[in-house]
Amino acid sequence: MHSAQPSVAEARRLHGQLYDMLTQSQYWSADRMAAHQRGQLAHLLRHARATVPFYETRLDAVLGADGEIDWDRWHEIPVLTRADLQTRYDAMQSGASPPGHGEIMQSRSSGSTGQPIVTSQNALAALAASSATARAYDWHGIDVARTHVCVFGDDPQVGAYPDGLLHEPWGPPALRTGAPGRQYDLNLAASPDQALEFIQRRRPSYLSGLVTRLSVLAHEVLRRGLDIRVEAILPFGEAVSPARRKLFDDAFGARTIPFYASQETYRIAHACPMADHYHVNAELMLVEVVGDDGRPAAAGQPGRVVITPFYNTAQPLIRYQIGDIATASGNDCRCGRTLPVLGDILGRIAHMFRLPDGRPILPNISDDDVLELGAEIWQLAQVAPDRLEFRYVPGERAGDEDRFAQRLKAQLHPDFEIAFRRLASSDFQERRKFIPYLCELA
Ligand SMILES: [Zn+2]
Repeated sequence: MHSAQPSVAEARRLHGQLYDMLTQSQYWSADRMAAHQRGQLAHLLRHARATVPFYETRLDAVLGADGEIDWDRWHEIPVLTRADLQTRYDAMQSGASPPGHGEIMQSRSSGSTGQPIVTSQNALAALAASSATARAYDWHGIDVARTHVCVFGDDPQVGAYPDGLLHEPWGPPALRTGAPGRQYDLNLAASPDQALEFIQRRRPSYLSGLVTRLSVLAHEVLRRGLDIRVEAILPFGEAVSPARRKLFDDAFGARTIPFYASQETYRIAHACPMADHYHVNAELMLVEVVGDDGRPAAAGQPGRVVITPFYNTAQPLIRYQIGDIATASGNDCRCGRTLPVLGDILGRIAHMFRLPDGRPILPNISDDDVLELGAEIWQLAQVAPDRLEFRYVPGERAGDEDRFAQRLKAQLHPDFEIAFRRLASSDFQERRKFIPYLCELA
């Protein structure tokens, strides 16, 4: 049931066209963007109902039998959950992808929150995401002719120390106009010592990886007084706090350029080059931030992120509740772009804690408290209904745990008992430890 495959040259041409469009459309008026989105959504909805069993009746509130769409009832489409993706995989596959949408690949999320999620994606969706990445690299002046080290990868056979895995060229094809640049991947089995030796040897301009892993490296650089200069840090996997940005600047002399993405939806939003927030790739997906009533949350108010990617026709995700909490803040930005703004991306719903009185809460420790304790790398886990455990790598100077515990209780709930567990940097090799807030309740 796969459609005719576009050739490599054709894919490259399409990527270039999309990139050209994105450089224009980032300045579109809100009306023009809304019209574009509705056009894309209309195709997706009709395709989903016609070819995907899961959507046979699910879209009825919005999509009439005659194919007409009632946009006022958009919010009546039930949100799709991670559990739906885990249990209804077969029913969610399209029986017929539109021509030209390309080869279908499977992606598997890491499953840091439990069971992994497998989704199917067609090549067009990946191509579109790559075009949006090219646009963001433009914003930040990232030059793909220069060297990039990426510290990531679970497979100990791929990208192993000391050689790593070389990609040449790297980066979105639309930007590869000069000499090919090199990217070296180093997998997560490498120790911090090995990773730093690798970085010193490869001398990258750009360093990417999970936020916590890069933080471990940054603390090591400072502790040992190493002179490693990197132009930019491209972190992923979790939000980057102001303290972490400062850490990367102190350790590497680097600016930090985060993006927001998931395995199921690819790149969702990229950091604005002028302001401390993200711009949504609105040409490629509809991103909603909704309150508990399923309606759009007020500007600046946290809500659940619900995403509808336009180009994934192999397994359409319509109103997918990705599991993150974020705040939407309109589409005004001093950089002049009109793409919707996401302010804070606060974290995963799955990592919410439960207060002793039963209410859910998204914990958010202040950078100042962590600094005062002298914790370099840390994780807060809820291990029982009334008990939290703060796991951390202590810095040179011992902080006051009692005082920190009092602050946590004041912020979260007075009935919590707080335990401390001191760890070594090397304990943070394990993937679960990369999650800053972890709920371990059954
Ligand atoms: Zn901006």
